[in-house]
Amino acid sequence: MAPALLSTERAETLTAQAARKPTSILLRTPWRLPVAQSAEGSYVTLDNGKRLLDAVGGAAVACIGNGHPKVVQAIKDQADKVSYVYNMQLTNQPAEELAKQLISSSKGAFELVGFVSGGSEAMEAVLKLARQYFVETGQPQRTNFIARHLSFHGNTLGTLSLASHAGRRAPYEAILNHESFHHVSPAYAKRFQRPDETEEQYVERLRQELDDKFQELGPDTVIGFAAETVVGATTGVVPPPKGYFKAMKSVCDKYGALFILDEVMSGMGRLGTLHAWETFADGISPDIQAVAKGLGGGYASIGAVLISKRVADGIRDTSGVWKHGHTYQAHPIACAASLAVQKVIEEENLLENARKIGDYLSSLLREKLLSPNCIAAPYVFDIRGAGCWWGIEFDFDGPQCRKLDLKGEKFAIAVQQRALDKGIVIMGMAGTASLDGSKGDAILLSPAYNISKEQIEEIVTVFVATVEEVLSESFVE
Ligand SMILES: *Cc1c(COP(=O)(O)O)cnc(C)c1O
Repeated sequence: MAPALLSTERAETLTAQAARKPTSILLRTPWRLPVAQSAEGSYVTLDNGKRLLDAVGGAAVACIGNGHPKVVQAIKDQADKVSYVYNMQLTNQPAEELAKQLISSSKGAFELVGFVSGGSEAMEAVLKLARQYFVETGQPQRTNFIARHLSFHGNTLGTLSLASHAGRRAPYEAILNHESFHHVSPAYAKRFQRPDETEEQYVERLRQELDDKFQELGPDTVIGFAAETVVGATTGVVPPPKGYFKAMKSVCDKYGALFILDEVMSGMGRLGTLHAWETFADGISPDIQAVAKGLGGGYASIGAVLISKRVADGIRDTSGVWKHGHTYQAHPIACAASLAVQKVIEEENLLENARKIGDYLSSLLREKLLSPNCIAAPYVFDIRGAGCWWGIEFDFDGPQCRKLDLKGEKFAIAVQQRALDKGIVIMGMAGTASLDGSKGDAILLSPAYNISKEQIEEIVTVFVATVEEVLSESFVE
């Protein structure tokens, strides 16, 4: 391999092309972005004609790809019927139907639904609903939330306070709420389980830590414990150890606090079951849950708060109303789009497909990345996930690792950008492996549930080649 040659012969990057076009948008990236012109299924075509294969659904959002004819038709039909009514004056048909569908598919876990316009709004609403529940049921002294380090719950001040994501919090640390929001350890066995500990002992240590935190704050001051069922954008698809949520729920129950799950990314089929807790929380459903990304599949901005009988009863028996709301809540077109997405998932049996295609994706990843012929193998720390959601974590500290010089770039981000030039969209995440976010590189793959076998093969081939290319250019001789 001749790395120098490769880099000089490479065509102009998409980022370099994009940099020539002015933009009036305040971007979230230090680099300019290519412009998507059209999209169909898992392919996105740019304004320069280049076609990209989307291996990550944006941010684990586009769960049935772009342009599904049934969803497009449902959006058009709804626009012809009712485009907007305000949720303090009128309700609307798709919202009513979607709420019914979310409840009937929950296996008895939920009794009421509240709609919002995205994941952060959903988690913010969860926090407020949890507080409202205790205010109305006569426990106004409950003012504390406990969440976990290395977590993400949204980008509003409330959800950022709840979460513990060093990079996203940094500029706002001084104005976040430190009074009501508290954190315990992540459940991340591969990194933080001690070598002298069994999985059971690790879970017991985490349970004890949560119990201690309740004691420290005053057990009757805690509103709830909130966690991502499977951690997404912070550490890269990290499922909990066996028995973890059962243990954490037992602490909540002991002190009468709420058990809250954030399934904004992990829910709505992403892991091959409608709710992630069906597989990863020992089947224990939460008192309140947030969903969003896969709910609308990218066809509309929508999120939802799913409410158990306990909380629903608490509100119904008192004020009977949700003391929270937004202008676009239960938006008719958003609800119609979301309802159509959920019907497509059901009619096309896409949860099963997500499980099958995901198994194939993970076996290909393991086969290719861990092969002795793959120069990336020594750096692969973990390949984990389920359904259509996989995280590949890299580590460069092992004794088997040749030293690298990444010239100030984060490895995962370099891989993400190089992959884009090679025609696949993936998501790189840095700072996944230490509580302060200074170390760790992971790649997220979350293709559409209806992606084909051939597309999965293309994704893995290009992804592995990209990782090898970035590594080979970074070796210090
Ligand atoms: C994406 C995400 C959010 C925030 O959702 P937005 O729609 O971006 O506001 C909250 N929690 C988790 C777990 C997420 O992955």
